[in-house]
Amino acid sequence: MDLQSAKNRVRELHTLLNHYNYQYYVLDQPSVPDAEYDQLMQELIGLEAKFPELNSPDSPSQRVGGGVLESFEKVEHRVPMLSLGNAFSPQDLRDFDRRIRQVVGDDFSYVCELKIDGLAVSLHYQDGVFVQGATRGDGSIGEDITANLKTIGSIPLRLKEAVSLEVRGEAFMPKRSFETLNKAKEEKGEEPFANPRNAAAGSLRQLDPKIAASRNLDVFLYGIAGAGEVGITSHSEGLNWLDSLGFKTNRERKLCPDIERVIEFVESWVEKRPNLPYEIDGIVIKVDSLGQQEELGTTAKSPRWAIAYKFPAEEVVTTLRDIELNVGRTGVITPTAILEPVRVAGTTVQRASLHNEDLIREKDIRLGDQVVVKKAGDIIPEVVNVLVERRTGMEREFVMPTHCPECESELVRFEDEVALRCINPKCPAQIREGLIHFVSRNAMNIEGLGEKVISQLFAENLIHDVADLYKLNREQLIGLERMGEKSIQKMLAAIEASKENSLEKLLFGLGIRHVGAKAAKTLAMEFETMDRLAVATSEELKAINEIGEKMADSVLTYFGMDEVTELIEELKAASVNMQYKGPKRVLAEESDSFFSGKTIVLTGKLEQLTRNEAKEKIEALGGNVAGSVSKKTDLVIAGEDAGSKLTKAEELGIEVWNEERMIEELNK
Ligand code: NAD
Repeated sequence: MDLQSAKNRVRELHTLLNHYNYQYYVLDQPSVPDAEYDQLMQELIGLEAKFPELNSPDSPSQRVGGGVLESFEKVEHRVPMLSLGNAFSPQDLRDFDRRIRQVVGDDFSYVCELKIDGLAVSLHYQDGVFVQGATRGDGSIGEDITANLKTIGSIPLRLKEAVSLEVRGEAFMPKRSFETLNKAKEEKGEEPFANPRNAAAGSLRQLDPKIAASRNLDVFLYGIAGAGEVGITSHSEGLNWLDSLGFKTNRERKLCPDIERVIEFVESWVEKRPNLPYEIDGIVIKVDSLGQQEELGTTAKSPRWAIAYKFPAEEVVTTLRDIELNVGRTGVITPTAILEPVRVAGTTVQRASLHNEDLIREKDIRLGDQVVVKKAGDIIPEVVNVLVERRTGMEREFVMPTHCPECESELVRFEDEVALRCINPKCPAQIREGLIHFVSRNAMNIEGLGEKVISQLFAENLIHDVADLYKLNREQLIGLERMGEKSIQKMLAAIEASKENSLEKLLFGLGIRHVGAKAAKTLAMEFETMDRLAVATSEELKAINEIGEKMADSVLTYFGMDEVTELIEELKAASVNMQYKGPKRVLAEESDSFFSGKTIVLTGKLEQLTRNEAKEKIEALGGNVAGSVSKKTDLVIAGEDAGSKLTKAEELGIEVWNEERMIEELNK
């Protein structure tokens, strides 16, 4: 890049970053994910390093935070409240370590702390009494929010010693309060907060302290302004002193002798992070000794003795290239966003389900749009929203087709359904998807027969329905692309082994409408053989607790079809098992087990049993295993690293057992 283009880009970045700063710090309403902001900031820092003549004191790279609201009294910070430099990889941390060593040598240690995603606050105490609290503002001048801070229960109004000092920390909104607040806002038709950080800031920067009081805010303190002046020699000592004065500090901190131990700490938190009841966006690493901190000094924006390691982004911006349509096994047409590949929370994402046409309209998603993408529940990619202000005019509206993209029959939309469906039973896409479902893990679990192989066999006309799978032989397969002798043997052995599966796996695999894995199990347990189920009456079906009218009708219709009778005969001829082999159904009133009739939730990692095994055993004894904790839960079994479900159980006063206690009871 030449100087002139760099100059133009720097100007553009100033405008963008100033705009985003204003939305984030002043309005508490960001429009782009933090990762997008961080990336632009890194680009600016990179350009300023390459072209030093483009540095300026008013550059966003040189300034802390945003402005202060006029409505508050201003507070001047005697010791500036700075920002932190960022690290995004272990290499960045090692570079930071090298810079420290160049100044202080090799004899020092680090303190690692969680980087709480809230807003920095400063608290003044006079002779042990809380007298003033402020926001960081632009680092030199903040806003006086004393009245609001007084509503936070964990901020002591009087300390255990009559000392005068200024402490700093992070005010935040716990995840649970954030969810409740946003739900209430949505119900009232108000705009929800983008994240707990902005919700906390928005709550504290209100003139009416009643609002802050209603928001369940909390605080962790992590520093003393001018700590050296109160006779402290290290940061860790300061934190312990804060504890003894009655402040709330975060326990998850660690003194590390070198940067490799720091990296281990950082990596351990990438996984543990979702279990915390509050948001963190990284780990803060500080040189422990105050003497060495002083030697290292600060830049205008951040101390040289500390750095913030930022976790891989959970929300990023990318381009939506196209929308692809997939036909599912029940004929539902699902639009899928094809994205410019992008890293989200550690993996590359290039597709995200858009669910249905209504969602595309609601979010006004257009082809070519810049969209924010995140992984919902940390697994499934999702398009969060569109950056409308980035539209160039070249974006195109998406039009849902009127005909099936695979078989060209007309699509229909049933009443009360958002989905468009292809209702042609011979639609090749539906048949292929049905076959993929049949071999999948929770159904017949045929290893070596994944989506790709099924599609290949289907395209080669070797299979038309599930019975054909049991007619496959080596000769048919040997000529196919990417099929070696070994994989053929394995595959045929897996098909053979699947004939022994218990009835519920076959039932689920057949893909009867409305019959999921759980209902298939119930039906198999109840009727024990396919033949008995096939002649079950509507009354018999509906008499079963978990089987409703819709499901009963669907089962009756299914077994009433001649094609189904033929298919079952073919499967029988191929020696596919048609009997239920699992534990016998025990009716709640018949079982005298402790679990009988109780609702139990399993959470955390179990050591001796898998979750599924535990579930099966409990159900066999008449217990009901549920997915989430509510007032109806009787018991929670908590394994290792149990997270929010355990917290909720404790809050609701529900009995909690460990795995051992459960096994003891199961074996009685
Ligand atoms: P920062 O968040 O990178 O780090 C400094 C802050 O960390 C401190 O002020 C303090 O509040 C906090 N912190 C939390 N735990 C701490 C601990 N244990 N010890 C010390 N400090 C701790 O810097 P910043 O200047 O507050 O904010 C910049 C960040 O804000 C950006 O990296 C970006 O992610 C986000 N931002 C986003 C937008 C947007 O539009 N999305 C706009 C502006 C800023």
